[in-house]
Amino acid sequence: MQFCPKCGSILIQKRKNYGCPQCSYTTKEKVKLSVKENLGEKKQIGVLKEDEVDVLPIVEEECPKCKNKEAYFWTSQTRSSDEAETKFYRCKKCNHTWRMYS
Ligand SMILES: [Zn+2]
Ligand SMILES: [Zn+2]
Repeated sequence: MQFCPKCGSILIQKRKNYGCPQCSYTTKEKVKLSVKENLGEKKQIGVLKEDEVDVLPIVEEECPKCKNKEAYFWTSQTRSSDEAETKFYRCKKCNHTWRMYS
């Protein structure tokens, strides 16, 4: 899979070559198109190593699943820096993980 160098969209196959669906960018190169990749949810949330969980702060937040009131808390800023960071919570009891956009 390849991204448009101009606007960052995923390149698609056009009639003669590959190009961007958003802008006029085209390329003569062969682009690997991955069909297996799940575009919506590339980064799975809640994938943490066990030793990482140990250092996470615990906050008072109600688990939407089991109503437990303690959850591990961390944030991530994976997208562009002008976007608000995402808050992640993981239930201490059932390990359910959810996120909140500030
Ligand atoms: Zn583009
Ligand atoms: Zn829970």
